Amino acid sequence: MAEKNVQEMIIIGSGPAGLAAALYAARANLQPVVFTGMLLGGQVANTYIVENYPGFPEGIGGPELIEAFQKQAERFGARIEYDSVTALDLSERPFKITTYGGEHYAKTLILTTGANPRKLEAPGEEEFNGRGVSYCATCDGHFFTGKDVVVIGGGDSAMEEGLFLTRFANSVTVIHRRDQLRAGKLMQERVFDHPKVNFIWDTVITEIIGEGVVRKVKLHNLKTGQHSELATDGVFIFIGHIPNTELYKGQLEMDELGYLVVDKYMQTNIPGVFAAGEVADSHFRQVITSAGMGAAAAMQAIRFLEKQTG
Ligand code: NAP
Repeated sequence: MAEKNVQEMIIIGSGPAGLAAALYAARANLQPVVFTGMLLGGQVANTYIVENYPGFPEGIGGPELIEAFQKQAERFGARIEYDSVTALDLSERPFKITTYGGEHYAKTLILTTGANPRKLEAPGEEEFNGRGVSYCATCDGHFFTGKDVVVIGGGDSAMEEGLFLTRFANSVTVIHRRDQLRAGKLMQERVFDHPKVNFIWDTVITEIIGEGVVRKVKLHNLKTGQHSELATDGVFIFIGHIPNTELYKGQLEMDELGYLVVDKYMQTNIPGVFAAGEVADSHFRQVITSAGMGAAAAMQAIRFLEKQTG
């Protein structure tokens, strides 16, 4: 049997957590391998501008920031593989990682698979996905130039993306299930002051209707019980995220929301397996916190490897 090619460290995921971990591990000469998943950079790659990552007083484009992270990690020897992991065996060391490209083994793993947008689970959502229903204003906003769109959700994401949509859309109507936003004060001020943004409170969407493309939404006011319809060209949904943990089910400990459980050293319940970023953080969800977690995970993995060798 051919001898296993065992890496010191494999990183699954290529958002800020994965690329920061890669930088730290590369600088320790571990030549980490990063499996990028579907999209290098994850959610940040779809972010128009990042305004709260220190060091960029004017803000920086999400794709630009990711490119800089990548270049910096590669400069010290990280290997970026455009491949996705399909299975993981954590039952023995070295850990076995199966990707579309083949089988790989690693002494340590850093899991940074992030999270995906939560679905509304309303009739019509699947049918019109990509034909008026979207989870990414940065990706799809320009299709709605001069059109009327609705934004679902009351958090920072909904407000940030809603404000972005005002660049293109004629009107942006935020539909929120309560009568108060969850978003931070600064974001609230920006949306309340914006002439293109309207609000429909205490209301949920019960159906998305169209012919080929979205035409209208059915609404249900949770306070009055009233049902109504609203004509719209687009439905942008920002109601939180679900962590990408399918690969780890039955192998790693997760919390009640399905996020990986890590200790303060980013260690999961299996020694040698670390997790960082949004897959293990439902609370902060920032580029800087994810990158910080990634750096911490790599530092701890480096210590773990040092202990193993003696
Ligand atoms: P979030 O804060 O969890 O907000 C989700 C929103 O969706 C809430 O308003 C929630 O309503 C609503 N919602 C959830 N499920 C729903 C459903 N089934 N139907 C209708 N509405 C539903 O999520 P997020 O906005 O993605 O933000 C997550 C974290 O990232 C937060 O900590 C946020 O501060 C941070 N973030 C920060 C920035 C920034 O600082 N620039 C940008 C984006 C995100 P309720 O309010 O009634 O629960």
